[in-house]
Amino acid sequence: MTYNIALIKGDGIGPEITAAAVRVLGLIGKKYGHDFNFHEAAAGGRAIDEHGIPLPPQTIDICKKSDAVLLGAVGGPKWDTLPGHLRPERALLGLRKELGLFANLRPAALYPSLSAACPLRADIAAAGIDMVIVRELTGGMYYGDRGRRMSEGGEEAYDTECYSASEIERIGRTAFELASKRQNRLVSIDKANVLESSRLWREVIHALSAQYPQVELTDMLVDNAAMQLIRNPAQFDVIVTGNMFGDILSDEASMLTGSIGLLPSASVGAGRGGLFEPIHGSAPDIAGQNKANPIATILSAAMMLRYAFGLDREAGAVEDAVSGVLLEGARTADILGAGSGPALTTDAMTDAILAKI
Ligand code: NAD
Repeated sequence: MTYNIALIKGDGIGPEITAAAVRVLGLIGKKYGHDFNFHEAAAGGRAIDEHGIPLPPQTIDICKKSDAVLLGAVGGPKWDTLPGHLRPERALLGLRKELGLFANLRPAALYPSLSAACPLRADIAAAGIDMVIVRELTGGMYYGDRGRRMSEGGEEAYDTECYSASEIERIGRTAFELASKRQNRLVSIDKANVLESSRLWREVIHALSAQYPQVELTDMLVDNAAMQLIRNPAQFDVIVTGNMFGDILSDEASMLTGSIGLLPSASVGAGRGGLFEPIHGSAPDIAGQNKANPIATILSAAMMLRYAFGLDREAGAVEDAVSGVLLEGARTADILGAGSGPALTTDAMTDAILAKI
């Protein structure tokens, strides 16, 4: 099969880490008989430098015509003083909107070989952490009506949490489908004891659950969920929640695994395709030094193989190679434990993963 991939290297460490993922995909293609064609497109800071805007129309065009998008990271101090609509991060919001990506899948898994990096008590870490948070990405308070107005108490500001039944249903479906492919356990997180939008969320998710009898559905209030992630993270398989709760809880969950240099993400819509990127930023402090951990981006490429192209075996080969090299002690600087070393460079870690594949 031939797959066309839009490649947005981005800023900071973006070019280094996407180069690693491209090498891995090249080897997977050779081994399993696929052609991965990369179509480079500019977004973020680089696009601002080259085209004056963070998301040029030709980039949107390349992404829409491709089977999936692989992205490094955007942003950096050089562009920090630009007005909001010209900031590099605007490219991400624009791409999500243009590509109709309403679901963000964020796995958080603790590798047994890195359990010492988990900030939780050893007995809690030992129970294992392997969850995926499905966050609604294009609705809720981040997109709701907002403003400022004068009131009796002086100036006031408001943001509105608003979800339609159809928005809830489509994210719910994504989560039920995912849970069906994993351990058939889904926790839906809301604040239904206080918020009307959460009460509708709960009604719609419950109605949908009738179509997925094999999936065990549990409701959890968001404040309890924040505690349970620390107290007993092993209980979670798939979590589904709205935009704001998901934003906060997915960062909390990522900390449980030790390093943001390890965590991939996918943003998907109704069809195949999607945008695949590490959860971390462009790490300007280590850019260009061959120090960045390429694993989050390599695992993002694995998510692309699985979710955009349906290539489960190939995705598994990449994931197994990553856990294999970690088990054998390969470490970049960000995951180097006290007393171990020396740290591998970005290239050396990539070489180790390629050798394992
Ligand atoms: P960051 O994630 O870039 O870096 C935070 C810390 O983690 C830094 O010390 C960095 O060196 C380290 N780190 C990050 N990725 C690493 C990797 N792969 N290997 C080793 N260490 C790694 O967050 P930040 O410093 O807050 O943001 C830097 C820039 O990135 C900002 O301009 C921000 O807006 C942007 N950003 C972009 C995205 C994105 O493109 N999706 C996401 C977050 C932040």
